[in-house]
Amino acid sequence: MNITKNAPLAMVTGASRGIGRAIAEALAGAGYDLILTCCHTLPELQEAAASLEEKYGITCTAVTADASDPSAIEKIFASLDHLDVLVNNAGISYIGLLTDMSVDEWQHIINTNLSSCFYTSRLAIPLMLQKHSGCIINISSVWGNVGASMEVAYSASKGGVNSFTKALAKELAPSNIQVNAISCGVIDTAMNHCFSPEEMDTLRKEIPADRLGQPEEVGQLVLQLIQAPTYLTGQILTLDGGWQ
Ligand code: NAD
Repeated sequence: MNITKNAPLAMVTGASRGIGRAIAEALAGAGYDLILTCCHTLPELQEAAASLEEKYGITCTAVTADASDPSAIEKIFASLDHLDVLVNNAGISYIGLLTDMSVDEWQHIINTNLSSCFYTSRLAIPLMLQKHSGCIINISSVWGNVGASMEVAYSASKGGVNSFTKALAKELAPSNIQVNAISCGVIDTAMNHCFSPEEMDTLRKEIPADRLGQPEEVGQLVLQLIQAPTYLTGQILTLDGGWQ
């Protein structure tokens, strides 16, 4: 990896599109060098990385790494000697009755959405401890706060992310490392393409802001969290247009 020693460095998992892509853009705009990961969409991620390098003059490394595979994450960290910001964004949804879900499907959701936060954080923390500073932001969901019918595994994984965030924040506050989560409502990305236009319209009508959130708004909040006083830690910030 071609990483400049002195520039601040951020890692965003699942950054080939949607919210992760928008977070990468917000961080690039603030001058961060980036390590971006994806699972199966390397050409898309490489294109995004090249465009961010050209637009913002930063260094951006695109790597394939399944967030649910601890050995893939270890390989990325093997070549890192510093990291300032970690954004655990990679995530997948599953919609269906719990009784129709297989054990493999359950484990896939939990590993991708929750265990992935452990796999990256445990390797990022020693790098942040060296500097006595750092920021970990986990991308969660309102379903992690309140639970959703037909999305039990997803809700459980994001509820786990919320508790992971609060607990790790307590563990790392003495070391001046911030840990927060953004609990998203309905954000306009491919994750919601499984819903029909009519279903999306019904959803929109339930949202007091009368619109879906935009990925760029999540990127903006990530940047604001990074710039916030380190005393702000262990928080689950809900970004949902007043919905839940
Ligand atoms: P998306 O499907 O558009 O993008 C997901 C990204 O994660 C893609 O880049 C994909 O390649 C990557 N990814 C998926 N599995 C991966 C894996 N195993 N390893 C590495 N990368 C992987 O979805 P999105 O809406 O941008 O979602 C991003 C995050 O936001 C997720 O954690 C999701 O749960 C959360 N979220 C989204 C919404 C929403 O309405 N879109 C709401 C709440 C929370």
